[in-house]
Amino acid sequence: MTTNRILLFIHCKKCLDEIRSGISGKTSPRDYARNEVGLTEDGIQVWCVRHEMEVFNSASDNFNDIPEADEEWFAKAKLGNPSDANST
Ligand SMILES: [Zn+2]
Repeated sequence: MTTNRILLFIHCKKCLDEIRSGISGKTSPRDYARNEVGLTEDGIQVWCVRHEMEVFNSASDNFNDIPEADEEWFAKAKLGNPSDANST
């Protein structure tokens, strides 16, 4: 059986800002995310449907460009079940 081994979630910065500001209501990044993930000619792209903008592109981004906000979720994920990082 395959398990979720994700250590670092990739989220749209604007979506995270909306969660933090309360615009989205009480929700988690996992529940609020509306991302499309797909293959491109040169890698993988993550696209936010809500904001119609690119979140991540493996051909041009690197992990040093991941927003600081995601590092917080990463830290929580490392402490326990990765889904816990999405529940607060
Ligand atoms: Zn977004």
